[in-house]
Amino acid sequence: MNLNHFYKQKYAGRLAILQAQLGLDEQDLELIARSRTIKGDQIIENYLTDFSIPEGVAVNFLINGQEKVVPMVTEEPSVVAAASHGAKMTLAGGGIQVQVTERLMMGQVLMAKVPDSDQLVSQLTQHETEILKTANDAHPSIVKRGGGAKKMRIRKLTHQFVSLDIFIDTKEAMGANMINSMLEAVVTYLQSDLQQNSLMAVLSNLSDECLATATCQIPVTSLTTNQLSGKTVADRIALASLAAQVDPYRAATHNKGIMNGVDAVVMATGNDWRSMESGTHAYASKNGQYQGLSDWQVVDDNLVGKLTLPMPVGFVGGSIKINPQAQLAHKLLQINSVKELEEVIVSVGLAQNLAALNALVSEGIQRGHMHLQAKSLLLGVGATNAELTQAQLALEKVPVMDVRAAKQVLKKLRN
Ligand code: NDP
Repeated sequence: MNLNHFYKQKYAGRLAILQAQLGLDEQDLELIARSRTIKGDQIIENYLTDFSIPEGVAVNFLINGQEKVVPMVTEEPSVVAAASHGAKMTLAGGGIQVQVTERLMMGQVLMAKVPDSDQLVSQLTQHETEILKTANDAHPSIVKRGGGAKKMRIRKLTHQFVSLDIFIDTKEAMGANMINSMLEAVVTYLQSDLQQNSLMAVLSNLSDECLATATCQIPVTSLTTNQLSGKTVADRIALASLAAQVDPYRAATHNKGIMNGVDAVVMATGNDWRSMESGTHAYASKNGQYQGLSDWQVVDDNLVGKLTLPMPVGFVGGSIKINPQAQLAHKLLQINSVKELEEVIVSVGLAQNLAALNALVSEGIQRGHMHLQAKSLLLGVGATNAELTQAQLALEKVPVMDVRAAKQVLKKLRN
């Protein structure tokens, strides 16, 4: 296959090459054309088309006393329903309260093979004012907005590494690009004025000085099911939370459940979900072992939940401004700042986690999932909307729910 200089081609040229070399047919081309947008070419390289993922809205959120409708982008069935259900469960205790810390992102200049780290630390410390000024001079507009480099920290790492950490208030932006350009200016200063070379300079995605904490307090009586008392459900949720603290295998799945909600909102608002993922999972290891990010305890007659997450997200920056879907998400959320966005994201994480734990320790996760799985299977084998309800009921009764069973159910229904 010859794809040399593919990136130099215009859109039509790239498409023609793919068509010729990969045998794309009319149907493929129609699909590509249908979802193509003009903006795609401005955002990524070798743009082909847009990949669509469903967007839904979760309801029942009461965050710091304000009702919220939450846009969520996800391909996973049951995520939006679970978030709405978890949020509804918190209403019995007045919803979710959120606190957001000061917004400081971190960039690091990493120096390697340092012969005398004590000498380097002392030299950097003496020049703190100049280092912070150099960073700020590289992006004066953020300083005008009240942000910029605020403080620095020096860490001696093993293997002769020294990390110069610079904490930057990026205001309404996630700040990756602005941090990186500020760091590059610092690198130049270190070389020219202090004769110190660095290995690399880039932001850290572990933004543990930009945190949001959501809490809720739910009367145990409101958790009562047909089979279990509310106190039993609450005790079991607290035990499940403890299990995620002591076992990384359980913690990984526990946190994946939280990220089901978090990523869906991060994506809906045009943010960088890889950054959110890496930051969150690194933060989950802050005690030296990978652990569950949330904490659930029974206190008096209440189930008390708490979730703290790093928030490397923005209200502006990246492709947010040019992405109309992200602008729509801001409108749906009725928010005007990154702080409000942080409040929503962490709340969705907490509600999503509550819904998952509640299902796991009471009826089991499969019941709700299988209903939606049946729907996906039936749609996949060509069921119409008119057939769905009846076919779903029938499919849920078969011992093994798979494509074969879905086809059989549909065939029987149509006969
Ligand atoms: P931008 O590079 O788009 O920078 C945001 C810009 O928004 C600022 O430079 C500023 O420009 C402008 N702005 C306008 N109003 C405000 C305000 N109130 N507060 C702050 N800025 C404002 O985006 P980011 O620097 O936020 O970087 C995010 C992007 O970087 C994402 O797309 C991410 O995927 C990507 N990225 C991520 C990396 C990582 O996570 N490791 C690494 C590299 C890139 P001005 O001051 O000139 O007006």
